[in-house]
Amino acid sequence: MYVVCKEHLELAIDKFVDEYEDAPDVVDLKETEFSDWDPPAKCAECEQDAKFLVV
Ligand SMILES: [Zn+2]
Repeated sequence: MYVVCKEHLELAIDKFVDEYEDAPDVVDLKETEFSDWDPPAKCAECEQDAKFLVV
């Protein structure tokens, strides 16, 4: 699972495919609310705001 900004979305998808050998689901954090989990505020790869969850 990766939480990333828009710039690093493709990188995260590539990493996911490498690791799990399967296509991930991409979730837009703005359109989704999690009842029992707070996504990280920052991208895993840089200091920008996190926008997508790759899972
Ligand atoms: Zn980033």
